[in-house]
Amino acid sequence: MKTQHATTAHADIWRERLKSQTYLTESQGNRKKQTAIDAVLKAIRLCEQVQAEMVPTDAIQKTDRSPVTVADFGSQALICKAIGEVFPDDTIVAEESAEALQENVTLLKRVADYVNRFSDETTATTETVCEWINRGSGEVGPSFWTLDPIDGTKGFLRRDQYAIALAYIVEGVVQLGVLGCPNLPSRLDDTDSECGCLFVAIRGQGTYLYTKTGEFLERVHVSETTHRFAESVESTHGDSEAHGKIANALGITEPPVRMDSQAKYGIVSRGGASLYIRLPNPAYPDYRECIWDHAAGLIVVEEAGGTVTDANGAPLNFLTGKRMHGNRGIVATNGKLHQHVLKALAKL
Ligand code: AMP
Ligand code: MG
Repeated sequence: MKTQHATTAHADIWRERLKSQTYLTESQGNRKKQTAIDAVLKAIRLCEQVQAEMVPTDAIQKTDRSPVTVADFGSQALICKAIGEVFPDDTIVAEESAEALQENVTLLKRVADYVNRFSDETTATTETVCEWINRGSGEVGPSFWTLDPIDGTKGFLRRDQYAIALAYIVEGVVQLGVLGCPNLPSRLDDTDSECGCLFVAIRGQGTYLYTKTGEFLERVHVSETTHRFAESVESTHGDSEAHGKIANALGITEPPVRMDSQAKYGIVSRGGASLYIRLPNPAYPDYRECIWDHAAGLIVVEEAGGTVTDANGAPLNFLTGKRMHGNRGIVATNGKLHQHVLKALAKL
């Protein structure tokens, strides 16, 4: 028990130290931020247009049997192009690669058409578009961007929630996160409320909300009075039975908000939920989370006053490669709840 306390205390100190580490000067941060916002706004427009005009051949299965669409490739091409133009030496670690496209000429042409519609250039060849996509095949290192061009592709296909998630990481500490959520209602309980927003967080400066067309709305904060938890829609992406037990232990009686993508981090950051929990599904005990599925969401919650760790209370380690090999599960809270969740988890 003593060791456990010592370990928890150590993890707390480490996490607090990480949270306060800012590596970008104000002007560097502002340039990265503006480039990232502009790129994600363009990608949102492309994704929405694809969704409006989608034909069945616009989606294929990857080798791991997960879906990928014209919009995933198009979003990655636009964002990698934009970053490459302003920061040619920056590394980008993104989810997709053009490999699957090279065997599918119809799909590749669709991607190039959309990219040309939404980028400043209108005559990029299919080869150029593949080059832009493959700018995202960098490796984790001392500093890098990580990009999920469409997080929650299943949600995108269902016309439900999805996110465009871009983060910049230095020495393993997320410095900037831009999370575009084109379908997120401004008020969760009111599906008629205006949809779509952008969360922007810079280390040490807070989390800010914009419309999906880029107008500034407000600074956001986690809520200490909300009693609601969020989990994935996909039952295989978590352990909803265990999530329910944790919620019970915390006295949360409301049903969970089930939502695809890092939009879940977004709603914790703006106070719509006090907890986002993602325990490994018992059928996939060896699953390790991908860095692009959590980096932008983590800083959005932390800079809004919340806390993010894995299920053991350890900080998320973005330096072990594309997957977080040292972490298990995710717990994102309003901060106040965090230790209670970890204690409840230890008793499961
Ligand atoms: P969500 O929309 O929160 O369910 O998250 C979508 C992400 O879940 C995808 O981008 C995948 O990388 C990831 N994923 C795929 N399989 C699993 C799994 N078995 N456990 C947890 N996450 C997974
Ligand atoms: Mg994803």
